[in-house]
Amino acid sequence: MIRVGNAAAAPEFAVAADQALANVQLRRNVRHATEVIRGKRALVVAESDDWQALRESGRQIKAHVLRHLDSYLEAFEENCTRAGGHVHWAADADGANRIIVDIIRSHGEQEVIKVKTMTSDETRLNAALEGAGIAPHETDLADLIIQLGNDTPSHIVVPALHRNRAEIREIFRQKMGLPDLGGEPHDLTTAARQYLREKFLRVPVGFSGANFLIAETGAVCVVESEGNGRMCLTLPRVLITLAGIEKVIPALRDLEVFLQLLPRSATGERMNPYNTLWAGTTPGDGPEEFHIVLLDNGRTRVLADPVSRETLQCIRCAACLNACPVYRQTGGHAYGSIYSGPIGAILTPQLQGMQHSTSLPYASSLCGACYEVCPVKINIPEILIHLRRRIVEGGAPLGERMGMKGAALAFSSPAWLRRAQMIGRFLQRPFRKGDQLAHLPGLFAAWTRTRDLPALPAQSFRDWWAARERGGAS
Ligand code: SF4
Repeated sequence: MIRVGNAAAAPEFAVAADQALANVQLRRNVRHATEVIRGKRALVVAESDDWQALRESGRQIKAHVLRHLDSYLEAFEENCTRAGGHVHWAADADGANRIIVDIIRSHGEQEVIKVKTMTSDETRLNAALEGAGIAPHETDLADLIIQLGNDTPSHIVVPALHRNRAEIREIFRQKMGLPDLGGEPHDLTTAARQYLREKFLRVPVGFSGANFLIAETGAVCVVESEGNGRMCLTLPRVLITLAGIEKVIPALRDLEVFLQLLPRSATGERMNPYNTLWAGTTPGDGPEEFHIVLLDNGRTRVLADPVSRETLQCIRCAACLNACPVYRQTGGHAYGSIYSGPIGAILTPQLQGMQHSTSLPYASSLCGACYEVCPVKINIPEILIHLRRRIVEGGAPLGERMGMKGAALAFSSPAWLRRAQMIGRFLQRPFRKGDQLAHLPGLFAAWTRTRDLPALPAQSFRDWWAARERGGAS
């Protein structure tokens, strides 16, 4: 079974969301952080004259790649190998983890420094490394907070977004052995810098994800804001990269589009402070050995569906999370998956297998805010509806099937509709509060718990019309 984080074992979204909504501190942290990022994004997008043209270019490049994914991946492999890199192919998460563990073991090493990568969270690489006696050290500040706090990411770009400064101070104080640590941003970043610097200089194996793979040259591109990535990508003797197969783009010139779209959408910056590009190895400059693991883990299955294929266009900017009214209330953990928010709601069920995450496509109001901000124009609402259809076709819940059958019968003739209205008016009496029905029992409780349900009126429109024709309407 393909696993995407812990989604297989996660509770239904509605249950987990209920718990998240009860956590006032979490909601405050998530609301504050998403509002800050949205505000910054809006400013830098507004100053771009050709934003919509850029979005369309990004969409077209990614759609083109997906139509020719096989040939672009082969071109990437050929060019990366020619530049001195070693290319590995992994069908699933376990296969990818095995390759990475074997490479590290072949060098007799027991530690690895890591740059932020959602893909390694998807494969649960850290658990696999620890199981093999290898210590992974996260070096991105947010990932370090997650790792030291034994936590899981709640956001694609800002994984510790659900934590505030006081909570982070407490984690650092305990895990770094700094009882007198101050609570100012400077205190926290200084502590992290000192903690990490020793690892950057000592650990000889580096690990990264990839934002883009360039087929034309076999190069890998990683963008980041803290400089920890540059350290991990240049200082170690051995570098290993794990990348989903959808990360490939045709040529270096395509970066012109994506390096404008991604930072503006992700962090509200015009450009990422650190943009690292390398192809294979260069004697005397950077790592002496470079491996890249190309991961499928369900992606070719997504590719085979012509409607939801565009999910693979995602460049993991998280703009859809920050815009989503559901995510902004619940945060990311309610999704029970490494990928949260609107992109998680469509990506996880497809990678994981629909049977393991049937509640996620319903974790949306279909308002379309995600589609509006997506830099590569993924039509998330349309894909959500498509996935809901697949769930229903796979066997809707008994209550829903009975409800639909009842509705089909009621609407099959005026006589049946009248009978259904009479029965409904009788049955609704104990639950009626004014014009509304409150707290329906059994299968109907899920509806009235979260939505208004108007009561059936004493007189239907048809009855009113008939009375009017008889001259008795009021
Ligand atoms: S779906 Fe679009 S907005 Fe959401 S993370 Fe992917 S690229 Fe960004």
